[in-house]
Amino acid sequence: MTRSIRTRTSTPFISERSRLATKPSRVHRYSRRDCMRALRKLKLGPGEVELVEVPDPQPARGEVRVRVESAGICGTDIHILHGAYGNLQPPVTLGHEFAGVVAGAGPGVHGWSDGERVAVESLAGSCGRCRDCRAGETQCCPERRAFGISADGAFADYVVVRETALHRLPDGVSFRQAALAEPLCVAVHAVLEKSSLRAGDTVLVTGPGTIGQLVAQVARLSGAAVILAGTAKDRERLELATATGTEHTVFSDREDLPAAVERITAGRGADAAFECAGVGAAVRGCLAAVRKAGQLV
Ligand SMILES: [Zn+2]
Ligand SMILES: [Zn+2]
Repeated sequence: MTRSIRTRTSTPFISERSRLATKPSRVHRYSRRDCMRALRKLKLGPGEVELVEVPDPQPARGEVRVRVESAGICGTDIHILHGAYGNLQPPVTLGHEFAGVVAGAGPGVHGWSDGERVAVESLAGSCGRCRDCRAGETQCCPERRAFGISADGAFADYVVVRETALHRLPDGVSFRQAALAEPLCVAVHAVLEKSSLRAGDTVLVTGPGTIGQLVAQVARLSGAAVILAGTAKDRERLELATATGTEHTVFSDREDLPAAVERITAGRGADAAFECAGVGAAVRGCLAAVRKAGQLV
């Protein structure tokens, strides 16, 4: 049973513990039944999020226990907090963007040592047999389990993950940076795998949240010029984008978006548009702003 230690709805913050001072040691076979903190969605509906104590998770065969060092707050987490996310399977510990250190392993795990610094995939599991899994599109598997949604996630001291979901962190990558690996993967997937962007292209990105910012960065590193669109409430985000090199920003609630793109591209339209806002108006704006034979992702 869980014991509530704080009953009001609370929101987690990105946190980072100090770097490990010790070198990785051999894998610790975990057997104690201690408790840990976990921010859990207890049932469907608005709120229903509590910081509670739960037993430390125990890694089963092929699983590794990770001590969470840094975790990011996704837009999905906000939707879950407000009861506006459909696929949730509560009660569940939230958090799917995270990095940490190996802290115990179940039977059959080889090659990982306590203290190793890791980033973790957000997919907790998939069937491995369906058409999508065989095509490498495990995120589309109808039986997929996702951390923080249908499997206990990372807004907790510890999380148990399959061994194959771990990725070692280079020394130069901090835990805080590594917590962005999951949304960065989304951006890399969109720009490098789902579009045929070429150097010299001009792309439109709608929505300057984490995904939009990272899509803009990956597109720029691919040689494209970026037009990033947001609304008045996104002012700070658009300023951040400008400070990090995005060529053009547009307030789509002040200026007609297709007209702005037409102005910036001298009438040609965007070679590709990446819709990262998740709203219908942005999809329509992208369709109107992309050039003939352009792409919308
Ligand atoms: Zn996310
Ligand atoms: Zn599958």
